[in-house]
Amino acid sequence: MYYVSTRNKGDRRTASEAIEKGLAVDGGLMTPEVLPKLSHNALDTMRDMSYQQRAVYVMNAYLDDFTSSELTAYAAKAYGGGKFDVKEVAPVRQVDSNTYCLELWHGPTCAFKDMALQMLPHLLTASLKKNQETKTVCILVATSGDTGKAALEGFRDVDKTRILVFYPKDGVSAIQELQMNTQEGENVGVCSVVGNFDDAQTGVKKLFSDASLRELLENMGFFLSSANSINWGRVLPQIVYYISAYCDLMREEKIQKGDPVNVCVPTGNFGNILAAYYAKEMGVPIKKLICASNSNNVLTDFLKTGIYDRNRTFYNTMSPSMDILISSNLERMLFALSGHDDAQVREYMAQLNETGRYEVSKSIKDQLGKLFASGYCDDAQTQKVIGAMWKGHHYLIDPHTAVAFDVLDQYRKESGDTTPAIVVSTASPFKFCDNVLGALGVSHVVEGTGALDQLSKLTGISAPAPLAGLKEKRVRFHQSVTKEHMKEQVLEMLL
Ligand SMILES: *Cc1c(COP(=O)(O)O)cnc(C)c1O
Repeated sequence: MYYVSTRNKGDRRTASEAIEKGLAVDGGLMTPEVLPKLSHNALDTMRDMSYQQRAVYVMNAYLDDFTSSELTAYAAKAYGGGKFDVKEVAPVRQVDSNTYCLELWHGPTCAFKDMALQMLPHLLTASLKKNQETKTVCILVATSGDTGKAALEGFRDVDKTRILVFYPKDGVSAIQELQMNTQEGENVGVCSVVGNFDDAQTGVKKLFSDASLRELLENMGFFLSSANSINWGRVLPQIVYYISAYCDLMREEKIQKGDPVNVCVPTGNFGNILAAYYAKEMGVPIKKLICASNSNNVLTDFLKTGIYDRNRTFYNTMSPSMDILISSNLERMLFALSGHDDAQVREYMAQLNETGRYEVSKSIKDQLGKLFASGYCDDAQTQKVIGAMWKGHHYLIDPHTAVAFDVLDQYRKESGDTTPAIVVSTASPFKFCDNVLGALGVSHVVEGTGALDQLSKLTGISAPAPLAGLKEKRVRFHQSVTKEHMKEQVLEMLL
């Protein structure tokens, strides 16, 4: 199976090349030329498998140049060995008679990014080997919080890799900052950048386009790469948990094979819900893909009108990992629904770049309407939902997950559709404990890690071990630079 650029389907690559490159040379995203279909007994076969075995089964269909035994080894490293705090890895909880919650935050950093970032380093380092790359890969990340920590944990002590993370001094929570600055591993570096996320992001982008830095690094035996969510190696591991959730519901006899389910996904970059679309295309009986946004509702409008328009106010919300106005992974969706019309995708992306806006064809719009439902939820409503879930179901959820529960509720009221639904839960409530405490009516939230104990005491639920253990951890990183000095910092961290 080959991968092609969404902007030039003549650019055909093997899986390992697609993962090694991350992005196509024309700026497009590497995407499977043909989606594999599940055989008619695949769901039965996977029903009684472990999560790790399901991951191998699904990824095998996409990665021709990897053997099953290689994938088995990666799955064991990524999802086994106590890295996740439940043996199911991605458990499905029943909330009421036809609502389930797929918890994707049992990994080492307590957010769903672990699902992919625990796997990506193994896929990436193996891809480099397969393509005879001998240099050490140096991953640079600008993060607003969750991605940086998940990437650090994923790449920590992985052979032939270094990982350097820049976060905005004024843009991450106290817990997120502590999570990163206490990071263990011999190949990691963390540094804050004076300013906000934009400053950190712009700085990292400049490093990537700095030819003299590339040359310097090359002479030192390094080459630069990124771990962001447009790499196919991050999308693929996300397809697995949708298939796994369906198999779990079959195994628990909540559904029979073939029964439809809806999925509701809190998304910003369109990565998580795109993986659900691929699972549906492979043959999982998913009926509606419900796209949940916060007040940055550019995707809600797009799915309803066919017009993507990023020219709008940007809001900082209590679900910050969805505060995004450019959803990069939507490009793969457009490629699929245009029937792999690379010229059309190029045109939309050029318009987005020049005017911040594009309108899709009637054919694409009609298909989007059949596949997707969409909605959004603001901060006030997010708080209400967290409170109501706790009161009504004794189920504690984080703000991102609350957005999804609210949008599912809106969808059900509007459509009358009572199909069983899987809500995707993307973060531990303890990762956002100040807002969760506020939603539960606490007016005096303790600073820093004290809020973890406060939430534990109030709810009787213990904080996940990686967060509870933070206060005993040694702070290893204290550096802070202005964005003009990031290059020197990179060189210093690599020496
Ligand atoms: C990254 C993230 C999201 C959004 O994921 P997409 O890739 O944009 O779909 C949602 N919730 C949390 C907690 C996240 O960290």
